[in-house]
Amino acid sequence: MKKLIAGNWKMNGSLAANEELLAALAKGLEQRPSCEVAVCVPAPYLMQIQTLKSKSPALAAVAVGGQDVSGHAAGAYTGEVSAAMLKELNCRFVIVGHSERRQYHAETDALVADKTKAALAEGITPIVCVGETLAERDAGRTEEVVKRQLAAVIHTNGHCISEVVVAYEPVWAIGTGKTASPEDAQAVHAVLRAQLKAATDQSGRIKILYGGSMNAANAAALLAQPDINGGLIGGASLKAADFLKIIAAAN
Ligand code: PEP
Repeated sequence: MKKLIAGNWKMNGSLAANEELLAALAKGLEQRPSCEVAVCVPAPYLMQIQTLKSKSPALAAVAVGGQDVSGHAAGAYTGEVSAAMLKELNCRFVIVGHSERRQYHAETDALVADKTKAALAEGITPIVCVGETLAERDAGRTEEVVKRQLAAVIHTNGHCISEVVVAYEPVWAIGTGKTASPEDAQAVHAVLRAQLKAATDQSGRIKILYGGSMNAANAAALLAQPDINGGLIGGASLKAADFLKIIAAAN
């Protein structure tokens, strides 16, 4: 299966900085990559990114995604962005259940499952994040935690689960410069793969990404693992040269 390299810009960027970053990416992507590439950008910039894309053939290969979506379809939910709105702005992907949403916005497993369902209802591929904290890892609870997080999404989404992308993102590795070793990451990916296999006979087409301080230096070893089908990249996706090196490692 084609690997997917998805950038998560988080709450970074400006009109000027985005234009510069995309121009640099376009230059590096003149030769179309053989992996899938996406950038998940702050909602206010979705329109700008689509406009820039429409002007650059090299950026045709870059899909656009949101970083969060409401679990509700529409209505009195001030500040939220619906899946239909993301669809109108041509989003192919949306990140759901990122650990920063779970941690700072008290998102529960059930809410993440509802957000996944809302995205799927609009034909947007949710990138469902799961991952353990350092305390959970130290307590030997990694498997239990990621399985619980994924189980909620499987339970709510039934046979549609084959349409999601899963991202294993150990919380202790996000933005810290610490990365799971390729072998440790693969072991968790294998657990997630087995769980998906038990849920659907289409599990073979579900991409499981690794995220957590993936960078130009460690990407190749992580991406060489059999159940690591791509990366969700935070910090390194803001630097065109680094992001392009990760894309090259996936090609
Ligand atoms: C992320 O935000 O999903 C992430 C993996 O961040 P970083 O690459 O900066 O650790």
